[in-house]
Amino acid sequence: MTIFKKIIDREIPADIVYEDEECLAFRDINPQAPVHLLVIPKKEISAVDALSPEDKTLVGHIFLVIQQLAKEFSLEDGFRVVTNNGLLAGQTVPHLHFHLLGGRPLLWPPG
Ligand code: AMP
Repeated sequence: MTIFKKIIDREIPADIVYEDEECLAFRDINPQAPVHLLVIPKKEISAVDALSPEDKTLVGHIFLVIQQLAKEFSLEDGFRVVTNNGLLAGQTVPHLHFHLLGGRPLLWPPG
């Protein structure tokens, strides 16, 4: 079981900022920007490469939640959504998650 599943199940604490039947959003424990949230499906999906056609609506829903959170956290000047997939991309938790970053200028290209 991943650490994010434990957060979903309230087995370990997190600073949860949004929840509905399908997803959860909480503050990253090691923030890389003034606003750094993680938005995750409650369904256990390991990464983008494990998505299936039945997850289409879920992923769309998550992006609308991200849009709403960006407004709520006053990121109208710009924000970034990042999902790391696999070892080379630096994915450390094998439960699909979208980083929502903002509140400072974000450089491109990323590291
Ligand atoms: P990634 O490297 O893309 O897999 O991102 C995993 C993220 O999860 C990292 O930014 C970590 O700081 C964050 N993280 C790990 N454990 C926790 C936790 N218990 N609560 C909140 N964020 C966490």
